[in-house]
Formats: sequence, structure tokens, C-alpha cells
Amino acid sequence: MVKRIAVIDKEKCNPIACGDFLCIRMCPLNRAGKEAIVKGPDGKAQINEDIATDACQVCVNICPFGAIHMVKLPEQLTQRPVHRFGKDSFVLYNLPLPSFGTVLGIIGRNGIGKSTALKILAGALQPNLGDVGVEHTMDDLMKMYKGTEMQKFLEKIKDGEIKLAYKPQAVDVILRQAQGKVKDLLKKVDQRGKLNEVIEALDIQQIQDREMSQLSGGEQQRVAIAATVLKDANLYFFDEPASFLDITSRIKVAKLIRSLADANHAVVVIEHDLATLDYISDQLQILYGEPAVYGILSQLKQVRRGINEYLDGYLPDDNIKFRNYKIVFNKGIEKTEKQPVLFDWPELEKKFASFHIKITPGELQQGNVLTITGSNGLGKTTFLKMLAGIIKPDKGKLDSKIKIAYKPQDLAPEAGTVKEWLDRVAKHHDNGWFKQNILEKLNLQSIINNNISQLSGGELQKVYIAITLSLKAEVYAFDEPSAFIDVEDRLKVAEVIKDFMTKNDTCAIVVDHDVQFLDYIGDAMLVFKGTPGKEGVVMGPLTKKEGMNEVLKMLGITYRMDKETKRPRINKPGSQLDQEQRKKNQYYYV
Ligand code: ADP
Ligand code: SF4
Repeated sequence: MVKRIAVIDKEKCNPIACGDFLCIRMCPLNRAGKEAIVKGPDGKAQINEDIATDACQVCVNICPFGAIHMVKLPEQLTQRPVHRFGKDSFVLYNLPLPSFGTVLGIIGRNGIGKSTALKILAGALQPNLGDVGVEHTMDDLMKMYKGTEMQKFLEKIKDGEIKLAYKPQAVDVILRQAQGKVKDLLKKVDQRGKLNEVIEALDIQQIQDREMSQLSGGEQQRVAIAATVLKDANLYFFDEPASFLDITSRIKVAKLIRSLADANHAVVVIEHDLATLDYISDQLQILYGEPAVYGILSQLKQVRRGINEYLDGYLPDDNIKFRNYKIVFNKGIEKTEKQPVLFDWPELEKKFASFHIKITPGELQQGNVLTITGSNGLGKTTFLKMLAGIIKPDKGKLDSKIKIAYKPQDLAPEAGTVKEWLDRVAKHHDNGWFKQNILEKLNLQSIINNNISQLSGGELQKVYIAITLSLKAEVYAFDEPSAFIDVEDRLKVAEVIKDFMTKNDTCAIVVDHDVQFLDYIGDAMLVFKGTPGKEGVVMGPLTKKEGMNEVLKMLGITYRMDKETKRPRINKPGSQLDQEQRKKNQYYYV
């Protein structure tokens, strides 16, 4: 049984750029005549797990591209792996256990094996039980789970009783190739005869005659979810269904996905938006471990307890601490004292051919974060672009002396490495404070020499945030900074932005759709209402409490606060608390 795992990320390993296998040349064990790291047949470094020791870590620290990982497995882990991709590649332990009549939520970091686990259950990946190169059968896997519920579930897969419908993570990549009109594509997959019902539930009416190639990210996501729901299956998988969706669509999608689970249908959902995951799921499994190295699925847990244990980083049932800090989304200190005003805007108006937006005057105070939320198509990005001087308002003049650094919603990566990009745009990113409080906190130091084109969505988002903060400005505007980012990093992004504003007496505007993230990061709020694509009406700036109340009222949901973790939870519709809060017009907890 391997108690230590060594992994080389083959995409990151670049033996020419590091100066001819730097790790091999510098490894103390190799220098002593052993073969702990060698040149592999693919021309990349290859670790000999039996010889290398996790106490050494010289190679891990010396690789300029962060390609080597070497970690110790938890002592308590006695089970066999379910799958290992290659000799020194990612290992997965255990599998998700769906059950009919329930929605199973899965929570875990990016790169921890969520998609791998789903692919195995979907039959798209034949697991090797950790024996790289050996062909194992479903019977071998079933033997591993003998006498458990998992064995019964695997039997059903083997007997062809499980019909799967799967919504993958990267909808943009998959649907980019699709041709024809939205409605025609959905008609083709409508095996349940529920086309009109699903189109209505997901607000697809306005885009049903649109060409597939002309959809935005949020529209692609809703079409992909609709196509999955319309399939006649008994096991439905949704990998990150909330990505790209605005706050209103998240609730609609959650309701539709929940409605799928009945005595003959099981549902599995992977999601980083905690409020959405909490609302959708009946049960939960935590996927913990070390991103890119190994992942372990926990036992089934009741949702509230599961999310709280995840935030705690500790599984009491197994006595496993999988993170050395707790994630605490406390409400933050409600700033009652007015800070000096750094920037204000007059009434602004902008008309496009069929869209009109009017914004009431407002101001930004030093050290504060103003959050913005509302459905897509109401002019949030237009407002940011007006502030950033990219779009000129028809009415109202902005102070052009105020500099605004702006992170757009769409990330168009630059050429070269992260460091080269930072060197090009920023002067002070080399200072100690920036390194410690931004690059290290966002875990970007380990990928600083990596090529931008090879970064994952979450890594690219964090680099964009660091680049924006490295610019000299009074106001920092971020359009959807939580997109593609996992729970751990959402907290870090929020902290980094908050701390930066306080330390530098600057201020930030953040547009986002993750209610928990907004709740944590904001001091004041602008709420966009109106008719998407036609007219935007802006409320605010409001206090955080007033703003959140407006948003939740608009969504028709009430929130309470979890006593243990202080995180916001959606009340069950119609529950006593839900009714009481509605009556008092208190949609947001106090
Ligand atoms: P998640 O869905 O949790 O983000 P994945 O299941 O996609 O994680 O990936 C887990 C790890 O396995 C990652 O480090 C990824 O690079 C690695 N991995 C995924 N597919 C392969 C493959 N075919 N060969 C080698 N490694 C892979
Ligand atoms: Fe060079 Fe890093 Fe690859 Fe080793 S793992 S050969 S140090 S790039």
C-alpha cells in the first residue's frame, strides 16, 4: 500500500525551459547514486515513488513550473484506489453513491477528481483500481465494494439498468461546435416530451430561435441543462450547473434539478456555489485530498453537516483533518462610520438600439467594496464600462481624473508566462507586500513561470485578479471574479480584494452572482432590476442588509444564518421561518 503519492504534471513539466531536467540534476537521492527521478519515455521527468521520500521535497521546490507534487496520504486511508491515471499521475479513492429519490451534492476543490469520479460512474472511464496498465472489470470493482450499497449500485450499472444523462463542466467548449437553432437541437433530444415545460422553466423562450453559435455563456449553460433534463434517463449528472448563470437563473436551475429526483430517478450535482449546492442537495459527499495529486470521496452526509464539515476542513467520523484552516464566511464588520468619499457619479443614462439604462447618483467610499448583482442583460457591465471610460454615457459626466482598473467578465489570456504578463503591465508586483498578500495568498507563486495559455479556468481568473490589483488606480472594478473558482479560493479572492482596498485606501466594485461571496465581500450594494435586454433600473447604493433583502425578495427566497458557520442558508419554501421572515419583509437574516 502506497502511503505517499508523487505526481508529475506532464503539461507543466518543460525539461528544456527548466535548463535540462533541473529536478534530476538537483535531487539529493539521485546525487547519492539512486534513481528517484529519471527521464521518462515521454521525454518528461518521472518519479520513482518507492525511492523518493516526501520529507525531501527538493524537486518539488526547485521545479520552476510547480510540476512536481509529493504528499503523504492520510494514515487512516486503508482502501485501494479506484483509479490511477498513470505511474506518477492523479489517484482517485472511492466513488460517489447516488440513490433514487435524492439529489447527491458533491463538494471539493478544482482538480480533486470530481469529473474523474463522474466519468467512471458514467462508464466513460474504465477504472484500473490503481494498477496502471492492468485491465480490470466491473466485477473486480464490485468485489472491492462487496456487501455495500455501492456494490448494489455498480451491479445496476453492469446490468445496463442505469441510463445516464450528463451535463459536463465545459459547456462552452462542447456547444461551440453545435450548429442550428436552439429549439431544433432541444427537439432532437426531447425523449421525455417535456420540451415546452423545460423551455419555460429555464427561460429559454427568447433564445429558442437563436443559432447555437450565437449564445452567451449563461445561455449555453441553460441549453445544456435543458438538453440533459429532456433525456429519458434514471441517473442525471450535473457538473457545475451554476457557472455562467446569473442570480435568477441559479434559483430556476436549482428548482428544476431538484424536481428530477423521485423514486425512479437519482441526481448527482457538483457545485462550488455553496448556497445553490445547499439548496439543491438532499445528501452530500465531500471530495478531499490534494488537487492534481489524489482525491478521496467521504461517506454520505446530511447536507448541512457535510457543508459545515467541509468548511471546517475536518471529518469527525473519520478523524481526518484535510485542511489546516477553517473557511469562515462571517458577515464581517458592518461599517457604520462613513469613510471619505473617493469617487462619485452623477445620474447616468445610456441608450442602445433596444436597451436603456438609467443609474441613480452614487458614491464610493475609501476602503469599501460596493457589490452589484441582478439578472444578466440589465446593464451591469455597461455601467462598469461607463465608469472605466470604455463606453461614453449619453447623460452625465464622469470625473476623468479618477483611474479605474477593470477586470472584464470574459477572460482573453495574453501570450507568454504569468510573470511576463505581470512584468509587462505592472511595476510594483515585485514588492514583498504584493508577493505575500496577493501572489502567495492566491497560490500564484507556484504557477508564475507557467504559460498563460495552459492555465485552468480558475488559475486564469486568479491571475486576472492579481493583474488588475497590480495596476495603479483609485477604483478597482471586477466583473464576476468568482467564476471558475472553488470555495477555498472564493474566500481567498474575497479576502485579497477586501484587504487591498483597506490597506491602500482605494475602493472596489464587484459584480457577482454567488450570494455567499457577495454577502462576505461587500460593504454596500447596487441592485439591478428591470427587463433583461430592454431596460435596466438601478437601486442604490443600499446598505448590505437593504441590498441583500431586495435581491432575495426579487428571487422569492428567504435566508437564515447557519449558527455554527455563520453562512447564509436558503429557507425551505413554506417552512415556518420562511413564512415568518416573509411576513416581516425580512428576506435576509439579521
Ligand atoms: P475536478 O473535476 O475535480 O476538477 P478532474 O477529475 O478533472 O478534477 O481531475 C483530477 C486530476 O486528474 C487533475 O489533476 C487532472 O489533471 C488529472 N487528470 C484528469 N484526466 C487525466 C488523464 N486522462 N490523464 C492524466 N491525468 C488526468
Ligand atoms: Fe524540469 Fe520541473 Fe520537469 Fe523536473 S519537473 S524536468 S524541474 S520542468
